[in-house]
Amino acid sequence: MRRSSSSESVIKAYSIPIHPDEFLLKFIEDYHELAKTVLEEILNAERFTKVERKQLRDKLLEEWEYASHYIDSAINQMLGLVKSYKRKLKKGKKASKPRLRKKFVYVKSTLITLNGPVLSVRIIAGKYYLRINLEDYPYIRPLLRELLDGRVKLAGLFLFPDRIVLNFKKSVEYFEPVDWMSIDVNLTNVTVLAGLTVYRFDTRELYHIHRAYELKRRRIQRISKWNKKLSEELLRKYSRREGNRVRDFLHKLANKIVWIAYRNRMGIILENLRGIKEGLKGSKEFNRKISKWNARELQRLIEYKAKWLGVPVIYVNPRNSSKVCPACGGWLIPQEGRLMKCLKCGLVEDRDFIAVLNLRMWGVRGSPERVGGFKSMKTNPYGVMAVEKQRIGLKFYKIPLKPP
Ligand SMILES: [Zn+2]
Repeated sequence: MRRSSSSESVIKAYSIPIHPDEFLLKFIEDYHELAKTVLEEILNAERFTKVERKQLRDKLLEEWEYASHYIDSAINQMLGLVKSYKRKLKKGKKASKPRLRKKFVYVKSTLITLNGPVLSVRIIAGKYYLRINLEDYPYIRPLLRELLDGRVKLAGLFLFPDRIVLNFKKSVEYFEPVDWMSIDVNLTNVTVLAGLTVYRFDTRELYHIHRAYELKRRRIQRISKWNKKLSEELLRKYSRREGNRVRDFLHKLANKIVWIAYRNRMGIILENLRGIKEGLKGSKEFNRKISKWNARELQRLIEYKAKWLGVPVIYVNPRNSSKVCPACGGWLIPQEGRLMKCLKCGLVEDRDFIAVLNLRMWGVRGSPERVGGFKSMKTNPYGVMAVEKQRIGLKFYKIPLKPP
């Protein structure tokens, strides 16, 4: 089990579409050429110490009309690429020679200034700046106040021909949770236990998206016999669209879940899916593949969004979480529908609910907040609640099929 430490530096990225003029496009092009040259030089150099670095920098500066910082950026960026390539080679791993595929410029924070909500990126000092008013982007507005009063810093940005990606940095203090909520990810739903409330988010929409694109892909593959180029183009287009729709859905879902935790001052317990070979309760190969991908992606988003808000996150081993009775520890056998029955105490309960109950208990058992011991009902009221949830008023919320 790992736990986020009490304070941490967290990065959050935002993408903004841009419509660059000729000049900016040429700049991106020139930077790309510069970076390629730098990469070649570093790869071909027998050694690349401070001396060689300075020589290369001076040589490149002669024909560089833009801010000189970009040359340093290019050298740093390419050094990083070459280093990781050489590291792989050293370990005997297969590694292809680094190449520059995408055209983009990394802009250091020293080249960016903020005047109120207006961002200025220095391309040529005193001559050319790229200006963006952050107030024009509703999804950045909530961040703007924190940015203006210095709680959030701009850590640099990536400039692409069609968009910029801003990296915001914040030093986050994790709050001391009053309780922990657990999350169980299944093929058709995500179940969340938060205090006395169970939320069940319907995720069949995700399955339908994947399924629809899978069928499209199969049809396109037939085209490939007579037009390979066209079919490849279409495949790329459709997987991009599929990815966008899925990511959009998962983002919204993660926002909802993290918000529940934040509002209730609860920490989050996630299943540690690493090293788990068996799929998530889906039988077919296709289901297994997508459910695993979705689950991991959702967890990644939850953790990332939680961190940003200072919500602590822990992981527990989910092994047998829907097979062991949360009330007595007995073995469960499947009944009709999604019900499970305990062979020892007779409890009959929904399997997703059982899973979140177990995750909640196991998570708290190992967490530092637990002082009174596992038997203490204060931190673990669910052994009783599983049986008596009606009486004590445990609420179930079913979240409908629409994207959250
Ligand atoms: Zn039992």
